[in-house]
Amino acid sequence: MPNSPSRVAIVTGAGRGIGAAIARKLAGDGFAVGLLDLDEANAKAAADAIVAGGGKALAVALDVSDAGQVASAVQTVADELGPPTVLVNNAGIIRDNLLFKMSEGDWDAVMGVHLRGAFLMSRAVQKHMTEQGWGRIVNLSSTSALGNRGQANYATAKAGLQGFTKTLAIELGQFGVTVNAIAPGFIATEMTAATAERVGMPFEDFKKAAAQQIPVRRVGEPEDIANVAGFLVSDGAGFVSGQVIYVAGGPRA
Ligand code: NAD
Repeated sequence: MPNSPSRVAIVTGAGRGIGAAIARKLAGDGFAVGLLDLDEANAKAAADAIVAGGGKALAVALDVSDAGQVASAVQTVADELGPPTVLVNNAGIIRDNLLFKMSEGDWDAVMGVHLRGAFLMSRAVQKHMTEQGWGRIVNLSSTSALGNRGQANYATAKAGLQGFTKTLAIELGQFGVTVNAIAPGFIATEMTAATAERVGMPFEDFKKAAAQQIPVRRVGEPEDIANVAGFLVSDGAGFVSGQVIYVAGGPRA
């Protein structure tokens, strides 16, 4: 079983929430981590916390939907930390609305970050992975891919990421690169806190109500996703590729 030659990882949207937890987990597992985020201050704070804990981390600001910014951010990580062989496409936004109220801007923004962003990042990083003959890509899908009221844009993007995952697994497998998706259910982050606010419910009540619908009777924490990401990028997961792992406290949302 070949081992990873360069232990350098990139996590997008790593300034907070699930991305920050994945960055912490990978740093704890010995990866030097590039934390890429639109929010430079958050990315820097998350990277500083990793470094303070004895890990290796670098914050880079970028918009994942901008090809030029993606190319230069990936180059910065390669120059400063070494060739990235792990990529976690985690950056995401929501622009929820029922179809009749959804604007073209709501649609395009969500497609831009989730789909175009994952495409641009994967295209930029695969060069380093194929050169090293080893790589791991993990894409953040969602249980919303199965359909969710008010999320025509987001559900479409998250379902699209599943097709993207399976296709890259087929194309890149011969270079030692595996590609998988994690589809989280309800995870307590600022994203779900914003949804609670939109529907006019205190976040604690919103979480309690969600937990009632989940077989394990609790909502997820960012670490629940980070633990699965840690497995998928490990050397031992080299025969797992093209899979979508639902991490939702039960078989579906
Ligand atoms: P979050 O809103 O807390 O964090 C998302 C991060 O992505 C932020 O730091 C934000 O600045 C960054 N980001 C947004 N647009 C960007 C861009 N254009 N370029 C670079 N960075 C950008 O969200 P979260 O809850 O931590 O979610 C992380 C991922 O997991 C997302 O892809 C989300 O869709 C997915 N997900 C979340 C849940 C959940 O319940 N929280 C469930 C399923 C899937």
